[in-house]
Parts: sequence; C-alpha cells; structure tokens
Amino acid sequence: MAKAKIAVNGYGTIGKRIADAVRAQDDMEVVGISKTRPNYEAAVAHYLGYDIYCPAENMEGFEKAGMPAAGTIEEMLEKSNLVVDCTPGGVGEKNKPIYMKVGIKAIWQGGESHTISGFSFNAASNYEQAIGRDLARVVSCNTTGLCRSISTIDKALGVNKVRASLARRAADPSNIKKGPINAIVLNPPKLPSHHGPDVRSVLPHIDITTAAIKVPTTEMHIHTVNMQVNKDCTAEDLKEILSSESRIRLIGDGITSTAEIMEVARDIERPRHDVWEVCIWSESITVQEKELYFFQGIHQEAITIPENVDAIRAMMGLESDGAKSVEKTNKALGLSNWINLTK
Ligand code: NAD
Repeated sequence: MAKAKIAVNGYGTIGKRIADAVRAQDDMEVVGISKTRPNYEAAVAHYLGYDIYCPAENMEGFEKAGMPAAGTIEEMLEKSNLVVDCTPGGVGEKNKPIYMKVGIKAIWQGGESHTISGFSFNAASNYEQAIGRDLARVVSCNTTGLCRSISTIDKALGVNKVRASLARRAADPSNIKKGPINAIVLNPPKLPSHHGPDVRSVLPHIDITTAAIKVPTTEMHIHTVNMQVNKDCTAEDLKEILSSESRIRLIGDGITSTAEIMEVARDIERPRHDVWEVCIWSESITVQEKELYFFQGIHQEAITIPENVDAIRAMMGLESDGAKSVEKTNKALGLSNWINLTK
C-alpha cells in the first residue's frame, strides 16, 4: 500500500514532534512542513531534511536565507492526503476554509474547539470511531492524559464520577514570550475549568468536573485525580489495570517531582527527553470503598504525539484495529526505551 502523504502546517513545539513521529512510521510520510518566516526553527527543519513550504509572499526571504522553500503552503496541501494543523490555538480555525477548498483530510490540536471537526480523538478511547473520517481534533495534553487513565479504569471497573485538580505548567521551555514568571494563576477563576467538558468530547458518558491552576514551571502538568468506580478493587488491582495500558507508566523509586521524571527521560536519551506516556505515582494510588485517588504527570510537549499518528492511521484507513495501531506507533517511536521505576 502507498504511504499516506502528510503535510504538517505549523512547525513549533507540537509540529516538529509530529513531523519526526510521522517520519518514523513505515506507512506514512511527511510531504513537507510549513514555516511563515526563515527563522531558527526553519533552519532546524532544513537541517533535518524536511521540505519547507511558506506563504507565497515569503518565498524570496527563504531563498535569501539559504533555505529555499519547496513551494507555497497551498502547494504542500495539494500534494498531500492529510494535513496535521499545528498552528497556535485559534489559527487552525482560520485555516479550515483553505483545507476545505483543497479537499484534504485534516487533524487539529487541542487549542481548537471540538466544533472545528465535530469529533475529538483519543486512541485508548475512540480509535474505531475515527476510521475513514475526514476531520478530527486530537485533544489537548491534559485531556489526553485524563482520557487515557479514565478509559483504562472505565473498561475494567466502570467509572461513575471523576473529580480532578490540575496544576498546569505556565509555558513550554522554549516559550520566552510568557516568562519570566512568578505567580500561581487561577486558570480560570471560574469553576469548573474547560478540561472536564473537553474530556466529555471524547468520553461523553463520564461525569467529570475539573479545576485548574497555572504554576511557574515549564516542565509537565500534574493532576490530582479522584474517581468513583462501580466495582470493588484494591490498590494492587488498580496498579495492575493501569500497567496493562502501554501509554501509562507507574513511577516511584524516590521520584516525587516532575523535574526528576524529565531527568530520567534525559538520562535514558529519549528524543528531546519526550515522555509520551501518562506517569502515575504508584505510591499515590489509594482505594477507599470504590473511591480511587492518584497523582498523574503529563509531559505537555509529548503526550499527544502518538495520538496524532494513530489518528492519521485511522482516518487514512491504514489500520482498523486500534490496539494494532497503538502498538505500531509505540514501536516506531521507541516507547520501549523506559526503565522500571516501581520498585
Ligand atoms: P507553537 O507556538 O510552539 O507552534 C506554532 C507554530 O505555528 C509556530 O512555529 C508558528 O510560527 C506557526 N504558525 C503560526 N501561524 C501560522 C500560520 N498561519 N501558518 C503556518 N504556521 C503558523 O504552538 P504549539 O505549542 O506547538 O501548539 C500548537 C497546537 O497544539 C495548539 O493548538 C496547542 O493548543 C496544541 N497543543 C500544545 C501543547 C503544548 O504543550 N505546547 C500540548 C498539546 C496540544
């Protein structure tokens, strides 16, 4: 079967990771990435061998900067089967009419609202519903993390109710525009936060309410999760259930912060020290009469990347079995490069 041709529109934190993740698969290929200006990120894309596409009026600028563009963004879309929109939240909405005009399948990220595609994706929750679709949104990093753990527990025990508090990183490591920072910001002051409804865009049957604050860090979010389930279980049962999901990692071994998770990822040489999995603190897992409690950590730059690959595979009809797609994506990305941290 011919490889699916993928355009990556927007080459920032998420776009550059999706481009590399698509490149690592054997059933899809990157046609090109888009950059608006010939800055250092464009220089990196050029160095990594990606064809760069840009707005027609900036072609000359790329030429002068020694990284000639392969064409305009519209030309990139015309050569592709599917575009992954990785532009900042709100810009993707403006791009929609362009994608519709070209007649290309499209995936947006969590910065856009559910209505942009009418379908929100999480591989562990609704892979099969994405098969053959033209439009989808891969939910945000926080929602992806919540959907993964809720879905896994829901399948095993039946989830009745979820209450979660989120401490969100204030900015990504390279995002100097949002720093320096020295505050804890209510995100937003009005309760509940948007994350609960966002989880329901993937798992409509889950009763979930969330509250969020932003904290002065660039490395990872932490969720305090409280869940009511239908079946009795012990903390050991829950650990076994969570361990059965390939994109959930139980952690411990003295790790009590996000900084130490990032250090492990650097030490074992994960690419860009990316942690694609939800990290759940084994010690925090507590069960009291069908009520579950735990802490989970989310590496915001990485967690949605395998989800985008699976969404492409489903929408392009490359694999009808979600579990097989997840396994293929995990293998190509290198999720097995991890160490047991639960002793
Ligand atoms: P980013 O700012 O790091 O990157 C966006 C890129 O798009 C930049 O390179 C920018 O120059 C480029 N761009 C802007 N306008 C463009 C246009 N009209 N055409 C082409 N390129 C354009 O943003 P990001 O963090 O990668 O976020 C992208 C999307 O992913 C957002 O919807 C965001 O909410 C979502 N998301 C972000 C994170 C995260 O933690 N960073 C996690 C999950 C989902």
